[in-house]
Amino acid sequence: MGFFSKKTPKTPKTPKEENLEFLALVEKWDGFLAKIKTRFFESLVNAEEALLDNLEESDYDINPTMTAWHGIKAQLMALGNKVDSTFDEKVKPQMLQHKEHYDILDQAAKGTFLREKIIFNNIERFEIVLEGKVSTKFYNHAVSFLNEEFNCTQCSAKLQVRKDIFRPHYVSCDYCNTVNTFTPNDKISQIRWVVDNIAKYKAINEWDEKLKVENERSELRSWSENEDITPYKIALKKQEDASRTFWFKYFTERSEYLPEYQETIEHDIDVKMKWFYEMRKREYNY
Ligand SMILES: [Zn+2]
Repeated sequence: MGFFSKKTPKTPKTPKEENLEFLALVEKWDGFLAKIKTRFFESLVNAEEALLDNLEESDYDINPTMTAWHGIKAQLMALGNKVDSTFDEKVKPQMLQHKEHYDILDQAAKGTFLREKIIFNNIERFEIVLEGKVSTKFYNHAVSFLNEEFNCTQCSAKLQVRKDIFRPHYVSCDYCNTVNTFTPNDKISQIRWVVDNIAKYKAINEWDEKLKVENERSELRSWSENEDITPYKIALKKQEDASRTFWFKYFTERSEYLPEYQETIEHDIDVKMKWFYEMRKREYNY
């Protein structure tokens, strides 16, 4: 970008001059971060439009759309990594000409914040939203095939196909008792693979809350033994509740599409929560 071209001082500078030059570098660094942030959010908007169009253009073949998304995701991650490499390779060496290492820690932290808390967290969230939207669009298209007429091979009577079984199944005819096999087309059988995305998207508010309390806990200093554990316990309880709420919403939404999973919701939540209890035992010893 030519943002940080190297300049070597020729004559010794006064502290005031040093400080002014340092402030100019800070300003440049802030400008760079703001630019990356804007570019990142613009890319998200463009990506969503492009990928939803892609789905329609490929006649609802979901694979090229997902492949395209993985390419875009890699570019977005690279944008995050560019923040750190720019600081390490260009900004930091110049700032160190004016200040000590510990004086520029907060400048490095600005970059880490943008990369981890803004870019990476938003990629994760955007993935849920995007896959949810693409999957919903796919689902609405695929489900229309279930409304197509399906007739008895024996007497041609119109048969009712269940709207919640997306694999081959038997349908017996009420008129002549012939057992027919309904074989869904490719699109219908792929519905099973998109309902997870739709369910996760429908639980996005619960996901936001889960991420928020996770961050709140990780912002606490790491706990050391003999220390009062109360604040940690409060934060962990919040995280536990928010995680359970998210998974409950997610599995409930999923079972709306796939009723066979209704009975396993509690079990599925416990499986997902296992890592939390293991982490709590390991890091907080209770
Ligand atoms: Zn029949």
